[in-house]
Amino acid sequence: MNINNARFEKGAVKPEQYPDNDIPEITFVGRSNVGKSSLINALLNRKNLAKVASKPGRTREINFYNVDDTVYFVDLPGYGYAKVSKEVKYAWSESIETYLNTSKKLKMIVMVVDIRHTPTDDDKMMNKWLVNSSLPYLVVATKMDKIPRSKLKERLLDISGTLKLDSNTPLVPFSAETKEGRETLMNYIVSVL
Ligand code: GDP
Repeated sequence: MNINNARFEKGAVKPEQYPDNDIPEITFVGRSNVGKSSLINALLNRKNLAKVASKPGRTREINFYNVDDTVYFVDLPGYGYAKVSKEVKYAWSESIETYLNTSKKLKMIVMVVDIRHTPTDDDKMMNKWLVNSSLPYLVVATKMDKIPRSKLKERLLDISGTLKLDSNTPLVPFSAETKEGRETLMNYIVSVL
């Protein structure tokens, strides 16, 4: 797979709009503003393919990035953005749930959290859903460049403890800024394809 051959293919709201082919999917979920677009850009060696810091929560579109016709990186709408109406929140969760319940090509979910913060109730809910779905998933703790190295272990323990992560669920520290963790994450992705 040539990771450098990636393009935005489409945004979808309904299952009828998802790509209609057999290409497997790696799907990214996380709170809005957590750093999901930056993570996708870092994996794909791109600066601006996934939109960084477009208005939080503006869209409930699911974005499909085609990587070398070998895999889709699927970017789900960020959850947990406070400043929107209940109706909009509902539309998001529906869009996320519909995708997670419908996609037949989903190989692994990458749940993204901010390494600096204790996971929120929304994160806990997402994690519970993932556990119950028995889909393969891992957690990425991003923005690790924003904490001192001496705090790394403590932050990872807080995250795994709050989410009650199973010992089989990888927790990967990551930085889109320094690209630390990129290789580890890519290895997990490649291993499920
Ligand atoms: P998204 O809403 O989850 O897609 O989040 P974005 O990727 O747009 O990132 C939100 C903000 O966090 C932006 O200002 C990014 O530049 C910043 N950011 C994301 N990842 C990192 C990281 O690893 N390190 C640092 N220092 N900043 C980051």
